[in-house]
Amino acid sequence: MQSLRYKRVLLKLSGEALAGEQKFGINPATLDVIGREIVEVSQMGMQLVLVIGGGNIFRGMSESAAGMDRASADYMGMLATVLNALAVQDALEKLGVETRVLSAIAMREVCEPYIRRRAVRHLEHGRVVICAAGTGNPYFTTDTAAALRAAELKCQAILKATKVSGVYDKDPMKHDDAVMFQKITYLQTLERRLKVMDSTAISLAMDNNLPIVVFNLFQTGNIRKVALGEDIGTTVTGG
Ligand code: UDP
Repeated sequence: MQSLRYKRVLLKLSGEALAGEQKFGINPATLDVIGREIVEVSQMGMQLVLVIGGGNIFRGMSESAAGMDRASADYMGMLATVLNALAVQDALEKLGVETRVLSAIAMREVCEPYIRRRAVRHLEHGRVVICAAGTGNPYFTTDTAAALRAAELKCQAILKATKVSGVYDKDPMKHDDAVMFQKITYLQTLERRLKVMDSTAISLAMDNNLPIVVFNLFQTGNIRKVALGEDIGTTVTGG
């Protein structure tokens, strides 16, 4: 049996990841593919915390929120992450893994409230913990929620799943000659304004020495590869 590099990790999935080709909403086929990969590493014994975004449904800073009070729009964004969390929970449980959704905004008929010690217990029991509703506060993002939960739940790394293969010197979707970094420091990503995670999330990861592994979610087997310690994507550390 291959050994895992990490015992406990946080996997950040953007809302867009769940939309697949459609860019909006939730694509069941995409959910199934991602779900299988998550179940595979969970069954290998890795403790998994998931933080799910909401951008496929609503973003506080989006055009559809134009003219709205920022905080109200952000609360809508946080509720969108709960929809995604429930969809991911359903997909994972169908594939035979036990999960719990823990929400930063209490919704007791739907899921558990986020309580750190409870999250740790679930992880110790081998359940996949799905953190919903971001940090529970407007003016933040789910990337920041990912860094926060990773720190307080003592995860060894943040796995940031994206639609590109890692961190590049410029947008690889727009520039053919974009070069991918294998390793980069937190400060370099901030100074060069590279799109890894927002600056609040990067600062939190930096202050807590949490490595961020940025990798392509849409190449099958990548979640397992990262879990086993294969050097794919870009690793962001203190250097
Ligand atoms: N959000 C928030 N506080 C948080 C996390 C999220 O207000 O702690 C809101 C914010 O409006 C954000 C939306 O929820 O735009 C969806 O989250 P995000 O944009 O991070 O999702 P992703 O880009 O990962 O799909």
